[in-house]
Amino acid sequence: MPGFELFGDKEKSEVEKVLDTGVLMRYGFDGMRDGQWKAKELEAALANRMEVSHVHLLSSGTAALTVALASAGIGAGDEVIMPTFTFVASFESILALGAIPVLVDVDDTLTLNPKAVEKSITDKTKVIMPVHMCGSMADLDALKALCNKYGLLLLEDACQAIGGSYKGKPLGSIGDLGCFSFDYVKTITCGEGGAMVTNNGDYYENAHKYSDHGHDHIGNDRGAEQHPFLGYNFRISELNAAVGCAQILRLNEFITIQEHNYTLLRSALAQIPQVSFRRVPNGGVENYSFLNFFLPSEEITRKAHKALGENGIDACFYWYDNNWHYYRKWEHLTNLKSLGKLPAEVKEGLPDYSKSDFSNSDHWISRTISCLIKLSWTEAEVEKRAQKIISVLRELF
Ligand SMILES: *Cc1c(COP(=O)(O)O)cnc(C)c1O
Repeated sequence: MPGFELFGDKEKSEVEKVLDTGVLMRYGFDGMRDGQWKAKELEAALANRMEVSHVHLLSSGTAALTVALASAGIGAGDEVIMPTFTFVASFESILALGAIPVLVDVDDTLTLNPKAVEKSITDKTKVIMPVHMCGSMADLDALKALCNKYGLLLLEDACQAIGGSYKGKPLGSIGDLGCFSFDYVKTITCGEGGAMVTNNGDYYENAHKYSDHGHDHIGNDRGAEQHPFLGYNFRISELNAAVGCAQILRLNEFITIQEHNYTLLRSALAQIPQVSFRRVPNGGVENYSFLNFFLPSEEITRKAHKALGENGIDACFYWYDNNWHYYRKWEHLTNLKSLGKLPAEVKEGLPDYSKSDFSNSDHWISRTISCLIKLSWTEAEVEKRAQKIISVLRELF
């Protein structure tokens, strides 16, 4: 998956263009910048690729989630539905606004289970935030129907699935808001960076202002700009945006390589009857960043994961025991370990996650292995890897 694997001359030359002008900031300094507006250039390229009217770049994917929520007016005490299987950024962004992360079970898509989502909706719910984990998407039609029925917003976290699609539309472009990350291990990278996409002009206007201290970005004199509301600084730098300008041109190439490597590994694994694959909702196309499969029991999956590692098959993950991606190890959330006091709304509104029953998530995640698909493998390496995985798994059955 990672864009850093194929980092090269194009990326260097885009960064050099910025270094030549010395203007490292995305706003202002018009006279000095020699026509270089890397953040704007990347925003235009992303809007085109993602088929949306507005894109706003940010300093990270976590910042993108925070700004997306803020731009839609989410604040203290509002409930945001998110999955038990995701990255910690999901609840971090929600908590940053004083809103309440409501954890909900995942199913065999490894993303939000729409039936469980419906059961969790209350009169405080404002947003459903599906996370398209490990290259594939949530059942977006079902979630959209719930949003329509209950008057909620759909925010797609597409940080791990950029380049995938659902019913012909790019992931991230289908909800009211969509977010991408360009951190160092994502499919395409800026080093650090993120983006919020939307077709809603009001959210976009709020987002670019909110992420730059509330600046209204009218006129040519930053000091004279108005501040219509309180903001913060979530800006991306021109250096990071420049890396992204080179990487976005390679997104389709990266996806093609991933699809090729994924398909070879998948057809090998399919020869083993005890293996089944993660369900991709109808009409969905993965970005092929991971190959995700289920084994028959938790015990066998643990053994298989260990055996794969011992046999030199790197980058296969057992998320059930992972500190960052599954609710079981989020004791800092469960125990509300914050540096300072949390807002009263959060303390009162947060469910007691030490008592929650997410056994329906455990059922799937405890049997899931996800293997990262690399861009840099040669054909021979993929073939060898496939044979090795098969022989390791056959040993177990
Ligand atoms: C990486 C990631 C993020 C956060 O992105 P950063 O740029 O690292 O802040 C959010 N959600 C998911 C699902 C991610 O994988």
